[in-house]
Amino acid sequence: MKTSIATVSISGDFAEKLAAIADAGFDGIEIFEQDFISFDFSPSDVSKMVRDHGLEIMLFQPFRDFEGLPEGPLRHRSFSRAERKFELMNQLGTDLMLVCSSVHPQSLGGIDRCAQDFAELGDIAKAFGVRVGYEALAWGRQIHDHRDAWEVVRRADHGSIGLILDSFHTLSRGIDPESIRRIPGDKIFFVQLADAPMIEMDLLFWSRHFRNMPGEGDLDLPAFMKAVIATDYKGPISLEIFNDQFRRGNAPMVAKDGHRSLISLMDSVRRDLGENAGGASAGLPRLPAKARISDVAFIEFATRPEGKDGFEALFRQLGFRLTGHHKTKAVSRWQQGGLNLLVDTEPTGYAAEAVFEHGTTVTDIAFVVDDAAAAHARALALGADNFVQAVAKGEVEIPTIKGVGHSVIRLLDAGMDIWRTDFAEADGGADDPPALLSHIDHIAQTMGYDEMLSWALFYTTIFDTLKSPLFDVVDPDGLIKSQVITMEDRRLHLTLNGSDAPYTRASRFVSSVRGPAVQHIAIATDDIFALGERLRDQKFEILAQTQNYYDDVLARFDLDLDFLNKIKGLNILYDEDESGRYLQLFSRTIDNGLFFEFVQRESGYAGFGAPNAPFRLAAQRRASEKTPIPAAG
Ligand code: MG
Repeated sequence: MKTSIATVSISGDFAEKLAAIADAGFDGIEIFEQDFISFDFSPSDVSKMVRDHGLEIMLFQPFRDFEGLPEGPLRHRSFSRAERKFELMNQLGTDLMLVCSSVHPQSLGGIDRCAQDFAELGDIAKAFGVRVGYEALAWGRQIHDHRDAWEVVRRADHGSIGLILDSFHTLSRGIDPESIRRIPGDKIFFVQLADAPMIEMDLLFWSRHFRNMPGEGDLDLPAFMKAVIATDYKGPISLEIFNDQFRRGNAPMVAKDGHRSLISLMDSVRRDLGENAGGASAGLPRLPAKARISDVAFIEFATRPEGKDGFEALFRQLGFRLTGHHKTKAVSRWQQGGLNLLVDTEPTGYAAEAVFEHGTTVTDIAFVVDDAAAAHARALALGADNFVQAVAKGEVEIPTIKGVGHSVIRLLDAGMDIWRTDFAEADGGADDPPALLSHIDHIAQTMGYDEMLSWALFYTTIFDTLKSPLFDVVDPDGLIKSQVITMEDRRLHLTLNGSDAPYTRASRFVSSVRGPAVQHIAIATDDIFALGERLRDQKFEILAQTQNYYDDVLARFDLDLDFLNKIKGLNILYDEDESGRYLQLFSRTIDNGLFFEFVQRESGYAGFGAPNAPFRLAAQRRASEKTPIPAAG
């Protein structure tokens, strides 16, 4: 299978686009005529540039309003226009042109009339040594269904005329992709893929602004691709993504996301179809299966040596015990039951660089996966960046990839006992409070809004996850978008938060720590009241809630007054859904915008206390106005 992407999908001038596309690993491009026209190079120079990047031009597009015109000058002109483009294609070194179905007000339609137009065009194309593919636009005036476009192509009955399929045009109109199975694969000249979020809106507007990468939206691309593969189509699979965010976004990131999404989609389709699916799935690299995360082995914070004592005092207040020191690095292990938090104060290396650039920050998230080597291989095959760090003799080499911002993701096998190999036991003192915290419930990473789709794709293509919709959280200074990624076992979640508004807590965090990072960690407890009392006794700074909040809780839910007073006394926030209750407690901002959340989920409550988020954000805003963010230590 050859991979391709339309130049219109990403930002930059033509040269920047080519560099990003080539680096991302694509085999070729669809050259969008506008990109070419606005570029001040001759066709043969452009052709050379494309080849110099190791790419080929797989398609020239779009050619509009060709078919179904009445006899006369209009029809004549559309043929001579096509001839000029065929000449240009010869100079560019590409042999396939996309004709999209006409939206011309004078287009008469008629399957046979259109077929006749294409049969004539086929003769001209043949003389130029090029081919023409016909695509049904979802908003085409007469032809807006690939089944009708195929009928035109079938009746044109010309070797140089074929069909072009575009997942958006088929799926956005709710056309059953199964109908593709009836088309001979050799008459499909090209296949374009685009996903899109399910939004009710005008088809043209939806297509021009909201298309996104396979897996980022809600269209059933696997069903579309399975039908394409059934035809034995062997040509390129190409992304044609019109998206406002991508057009202004970071070209290398968008191109890389595109390649990742395509490889991941084809991998999952191949898995569903089995090894002998053939067609476009033949020759695909065999990727290991998506990695299943069973636990968080540890989370590592890097901080300045002078901040260490204050930072660690917080862990002690939370009931963690110092149980280990890294044998060769300035890293301490804080443990509570199966939870491990590490504090890294190494003076050099990547953690020190992270602290220098961002202040106290989470540098490592270590996941326990079913097969660390396989998970690592899959991540690299999907374009994740490898991370290698020198290890001392006897220490475990943990497969690692780069994560959000300055952080890394460690991939551990269940049997990998790094505590024995890499750590020496520490004397944490006799005080061993009962463990009230049980496991990591969610890790919240805050980033630029533009990066959210990219990181969501990163996690959902590498790991076995469940997809959740994007939702809005109201901050006093604007909207924050939140995307939840739930691991397959529904125990661990990652939340990605981002905001376009410059003064929301999310945006302030990203600008104050100079980049995306973990902003908060939510730890699960089975007894939030005992925890709340311990934190109060320990003088751990809890985020205070308002009387108005509790009045509202009483109005919204059927709670008895004793219970309400209990949660109010400990500043616990409350929510419930049809299956259970959710109790939340937030720390004040601890250091550099970081904070903790403690949650008690009861009877399968599935959310994250979204109705409480505006009150939490307002409370954080009040707290930060009253007192400057305290520095640790
Ligand atoms: Mg298209």
